[in-house]
Amino acid sequence: MAYSCPRCAKPVQRGRSTAAGMAGGLVGALLYSAFGSFECASCGKIPMSEFPAEVRSKARAGSVAMVLGALLLLVVVIVFLAALRG
Ligand SMILES: [Zn+2]
Repeated sequence: MAYSCPRCAKPVQRGRSTAAGMAGGLVGALLYSAFGSFECASCGKIPMSEFPAEVRSKARAGSVAMVLGALLLLVVVIVFLAALRG
């Protein structure tokens, strides 16, 4: 999933936080990147409001998918831990 920077048209990537990753593990990192802003290599952080509406709705759908993925992962981990104990 690649989006273009509204300022320089270079590809942007979702912001990552190692702190959130360490605090919440993989799920926390996923949630953070789902709701975090995008980062351009040249321009830095780009707020979602600078992107065209079409990109925003696509990114929102992507975020929902990432959150669902994170929840699914959480359920899998819980089931796995429960299976280990049982
Ligand atoms: Zn840029």
